[in-house]
Amino acid sequence: MALVIGLTGGIASGKTTVANLFQQQFGIDVVDADVVAREVVEPGSAGLNAIVKRFGNQILTPLGSLDRAQLREIIFSQPNEKQWINALLHPMIRQRMQQQLQQVQSPYALLVIPLMVENNLQSLANKVIVVDVEPEIQIARTMHRDGVDAKQVESILASQATREQRLAIADYVIKNSTENQKLLPQITELHQKFLEMSRENL
Ligand code: ATP
Repeated sequence: MALVIGLTGGIASGKTTVANLFQQQFGIDVVDADVVAREVVEPGSAGLNAIVKRFGNQILTPLGSLDRAQLREIIFSQPNEKQWINALLHPMIRQRMQQQLQQVQSPYALLVIPLMVENNLQSLANKVIVVDVEPEIQIARTMHRDGVDAKQVESILASQATREQRLAIADYVIKNSTENQKLLPQITELHQKFLEMSRENL
């Protein structure tokens, strides 16, 4: 399997922006935990079937896909059910991420896991990049992107790992507090490093 570089960061830190640059500039294959988490509950999947078995058809939208708002409500209000859902889906997500990593064609893979620290998933990567910004910037960018108020963003921030906890698992840090143009030089430097590492791995 190719060298796996993990990428994490708090809400609106710039993970997607960074991953897109690795992909577009250097052709690096990206495996994204959020995408995989949606795939394991697609209509017809074993994941969705198990959820329907437990919560009934009312957990589905009229079109037959998972009603995420309802699932969020269950997770929020019933800790036992949250545990059940995690126990069901986390192994599926992990397995599917592994499968996708095995198919990677680029010299190394980028594995984007927003909740890497919270779910203790850093061991899935050989090295970890943390995208780092000040909480004030996270709040401003989320408000701007999602049209939500500061209070809502603050409660999401409070539910995530702290900046310090994230930095503690970082092998590399990408700073994204200033304008976007500052990202490419940092990414280019890391890309060269990872290419070298992938050659050494052969
Ligand atoms: P989430 O985990 O919430 O999905 P994310 O970490 O993937 O977020 P992005 O979606 O890449 O973050 O970025 C969050 C928002 O901030 C986006 O609207 C993006 O365009 C903007 N953004 C990212 N980097 C910068 C920057 N350096 N300057 C200004 N805006 C930025």
